[in-house]
Amino acid sequence: MSTEPVLLPTPDEPVPVLLMNTIWADTAGVHDAIATPQQLTAWLDAVSPRLPAIAAAARRARPDKGDLAQFQRLRDALRDLAAELTDDPRPHAAHRNVTRAAREVNEASGAAPSWPRLRWPSRAAVPAVPARTRPATAALSAIAAEAVGLLVASDTTLRACLAPGCVLYFAKDHPRREWCSASCGNPSRQLPSPPHRRTAQTVVIQRRMWAVGSDVAEP
Ligand SMILES: [Zn+2]
Repeated sequence: MSTEPVLLPTPDEPVPVLLMNTIWADTAGVHDAIATPQQLTAWLDAVSPRLPAIAAAARRARPDKGDLAQFQRLRDALRDLAAELTDDPRPHAAHRNVTRAAREVNEASGAAPSWPRLRWPSRAAVPAVPARTRPATAALSAIAAEAVGLLVASDTTLRACLAPGCVLYFAKDHPRREWCSASCGNPSRQLPSPPHRRTAQTVVIQRRMWAVGSDVAEP
């Protein structure tokens, strides 16, 4: 399997937003960062620290083409719903089907039913899934479930980045934040750094930061 570093133009976003942002753009056009099972494997490995309840499953996942299709469908559904929620005026968001998108999210969320498992004495509630659940399916379902919470939040922070040429979304975590990234806020350049131009070292550092900051708990 590929160990190529990947693909996180906005690494601090919630994981469902990271999945939305696997569609990204540069001056050459719009790209899909999870176009192959190998790329999805690398992406799951990169985001696993942000999925503490299923981090081990996400790292173990070896998605096949069927899994890839499910992740792409979930990704496209989340982008449609984000576009609707943010009144996204960008051309790529014009053709959205929110009924189908909601159905796709629900199918993904229900793909691996989970229940809360108590950890003591840490008093943590950890989602548990049936033992035979495939790791890729567990990860898909967990991301969809987190997305539901993001999409129904009464004070949604989800935003479309309206910098010219950008196709990303972000969670507005500061009152003055208007862009997905510093590069989109820079008037001298309006496209975020392409993921493939990130160095392996950058991604490793980000993983370490996540591991420190996400209180990772293995199931
Ligand atoms: Zn942007």
